[in-house]
Amino acid sequence: MIYLDNAATTKVSEEVFEAMKPYFCELYANPSGIYSFAGRSMKAVNEARKSIADLIGAQPNEIYFTAGGSESDNWAVKAAAEFCRTGGKHIITSTIEHHAVLHTCQYLEKQGYEVTYVDVDEYGVIKLDELEAAVRQDTILITVMAANNEIGTIQPIKEIGALARKNGILFHTDAVQAYGHIPLNVDELGIDMLSASGHKFHGPKGIGFLYIRKGVRIGSFVHGGAQERSRRAGTLNTPGIVGIGAAARLAADGIQERMEKETALRDYLIRRVLGEIPYSRLNGHRTDRLPNNANFCFRFIEGESLLILLDQQGICASSGSACTSGSLDPSHVLLAIGLPHETAHGSLRLTLSEETTKEDIDQTVEAVKRIVERLRSMSPLYEDFMKKDQKKEV
Ligand SMILES: *Cc1c(COP(=O)(O)O)cnc(C)c1O
Repeated sequence: MIYLDNAATTKVSEEVFEAMKPYFCELYANPSGIYSFAGRSMKAVNEARKSIADLIGAQPNEIYFTAGGSESDNWAVKAAAEFCRTGGKHIITSTIEHHAVLHTCQYLEKQGYEVTYVDVDEYGVIKLDELEAAVRQDTILITVMAANNEIGTIQPIKEIGALARKNGILFHTDAVQAYGHIPLNVDELGIDMLSASGHKFHGPKGIGFLYIRKGVRIGSFVHGGAQERSRRAGTLNTPGIVGIGAAARLAADGIQERMEKETALRDYLIRRVLGEIPYSRLNGHRTDRLPNNANFCFRFIEGESLLILLDQQGICASSGSACTSGSLDPSHVLLAIGLPHETAHGSLRLTLSEETTKEDIDQTVEAVKRIVERLRSMSPLYEDFMKKDQKKEV
């Protein structure tokens, strides 16, 4: 099997799994307990909190554990909206956010909030002049993702942070794809809140966190006990927290070397696909993109058919977002960068990991070439196109 769907989820590292193990059957105490047995769990939780904070230049007491990226996004956006509503009811986001942000914004619109969805350019970069023009007296929150999960484009977070700060607006970023993959520093980037999720960087599923800058006074999202300084109730998921902490330490270790290795392999993949498959295009920014992300469109084919045939060759890939697969609508991200519906249907996202090899990439490119050729040979659209094309040449 060749696994090239690391944007959907990653393998739990062996080291992470080993670190988690004792916290199931041996050190199972509720960390909130008074006895020293519980203290050992709390100590592990605090170590994890510190590792996670260190990776973004935050303080441990600014990290709040959640059940994953979706909860963190919901919390940040809904709680900020509620907390700031006396100052206004206007929120700014982008057209290419993950559905955890987009659907939350749509929910808030039904509650009487106004949302501006700022456009992106053809590479998926938010239009900063439009963002600036969207700022109003009653804008309370800007939420823009650090890097896109489908096309990998990295956003100008520092500029957005500065704009938010200048206007006294809270700034949240969904960094689920970026955290642990590229360097991020909440102070340098002017971030007030940041979402991340364990399973996107070789930690376990069902655990994530929301960074909330000290002094940002948004309310709690899950009400109940006094865990997480009374801001997120629920018995701490000790094994999950230990796991995400270990994953953060591993991610911090050699992040630069890993980025270089993945970028080189990604660029090799991009070069081969664009060079060897006609009528193919790269989606997203050529250089300002996640080191492990490549996203292509192949004209005249259906992405779904491509994925099924790749699966028969043991290759796990995706057409964009795991969350939209199963629906026949083309990706909102590909439409936002200006692709026509037919082209957006023929997309393929390949996301690498540190373990991906050149052989994996070579095998994948060969398979994609064969399959695209085969699918096109059965496509009447392609046949028509070739006929016209040849006439043109004569
Ligand atoms: C995966 C993902 C999420 C959702 O995270 P979960 O932990 O799966 O809830 C949110 N935003 C982005 C950008 C993602 O890639």
